[in-house]
Amino acid sequence: MIVSPWFSTEVEEAPVKPPVHHHNTSCKAGKTIEKNHHRYGTDNRPLCKQCARLDAVGK
Ligand SMILES: [Zn+2]
Repeated sequence: MIVSPWFSTEVEEAPVKPPVHHHNTSCKAGKTIEKNHHRYGTDNRPLCKQCARLDAVGK
């Protein structure tokens, strides 16, 4: 399900992949973001690929 976008402020995410934002409640990466790193908005980041895939299949 697509909801308001959110992202993680966790710096460890950056070396592994470009920083992204999430907007799908089924996204595993989005769900594992800890509450203290959780922020609402896109931070001008591109959409997470997993979120995009979930959107494409209507989840
Ligand atoms: Zn995502």
